Amino acid sequence: MLTCSRCSQIVEESSLAWRCSCGGAFEWSSPEPLRRAAIRRDEAGMWRYVSSLPVTSHSSRISMGEGGTPLVQAEWNGVPVFFKLDFLCPTGSYKDRGMSCVVSRLKELGVKEVVEDSSGNAGSSMAAYCAIAGIHCRIYVPDYASQAKCVQIESSGAELVRVPGSREDTTLAAEEAARASYYASHNWNPYFPHGVKTFAFEIWEQMGFQAPDAVLLPAGQGSLVLGCSLAFDELFASGEIERLPRLYALQAENCSPLESAFRRGLPAPEPIEKRETIAEGISTAEPVRGGMVLDAVRKSGGAVLAYSERAIWEGFVKLAKIGLYVEPTSAIVGAALDDLEARGEIGEGERVAVLLSGSGLKATDKIVSLYETPPA
Ligand SMILES: [Zn+2]
Repeated sequence: MLTCSRCSQIVEESSLAWRCSCGGAFEWSSPEPLRRAAIRRDEAGMWRYVSSLPVTSHSSRISMGEGGTPLVQAEWNGVPVFFKLDFLCPTGSYKDRGMSCVVSRLKELGVKEVVEDSSGNAGSSMAAYCAIAGIHCRIYVPDYASQAKCVQIESSGAELVRVPGSREDTTLAAEEAARASYYASHNWNPYFPHGVKTFAFEIWEQMGFQAPDAVLLPAGQGSLVLGCSLAFDELFASGEIERLPRLYALQAENCSPLESAFRRGLPAPEPIEKRETIAEGISTAEPVRGGMVLDAVRKSGGAVLAYSERAIWEGFVKLAKIGLYVEPTSAIVGAALDDLEARGEIGEGERVAVLLSGSGLKATDKIVSLYETPPA
């Protein structure tokens, strides 16, 4: 069963509608909030939490061992911080958690063909999981997308369709193609955030079944924020934790519709004109579930914050110097750690967890050029 987040209409999952007739996004919810006793100790990675995932049959599970990533403690300005190394998932980003969940569910529902629009981590992850599932995958990308970004997608055997015009034109082309196929957009998909939420279950388990006090998350569409919120809400509902961690959603100043709405007290983000940012993975002008992301952050007592290009780059350099080689998008957490520590918003003795979303190995060309010409 899926429920529309806007008009509350309920539809059968087998209908394969990717959004409600009212234009709202569909949501799926776990039949039972996760309890410690439900963890499958005989499973590895994210499938330890299968009782909280939408996939019911083991035979339709499409997995490459995603999840189960290390939680590493390191010092940041002399303060201990827990880094969750989700860039170690199979295709190099946390998106594999969501895609494993989505593609498994689609296989279960008998879907044979999907379309998606993403030239980034989501596209390469979807291509890889569809390859294993035997689902035909067509990915729409803007015709200006670099070869470096497309090669991982094409290597998995996905069909790449280059669309002239803007990023929004690419989305329209994918939506049009979805009339005759299934639109597996991770931004609209109701199952994707449930796969993503497993990173937060892992943090809780790795911290000895305790929630951290604060979690720092890069945010474009905000799927990490939604996943984190889903996980800790479940653990709170089942009585496993006594309070929710503060969630900090991090955006680039050059593209910060969530931060702007948060600061102005708006219920949902307003469309903005985005400027180019080195944090391209979170460069989203109109987040599909923006209102839900804002609700999750506000409920947690955290904040949405935005950082300059220079601060993000300095975050990259500092993370790399402690061995954490991430893509520039993920480096925004470094900027936020410096800022939150300097302002005393992260207190002495607090347990702070930081999500590292994507591997620097995916962005070699870009990182080389940033060292040559750092942002002013
Ligand atoms: Zn609706």
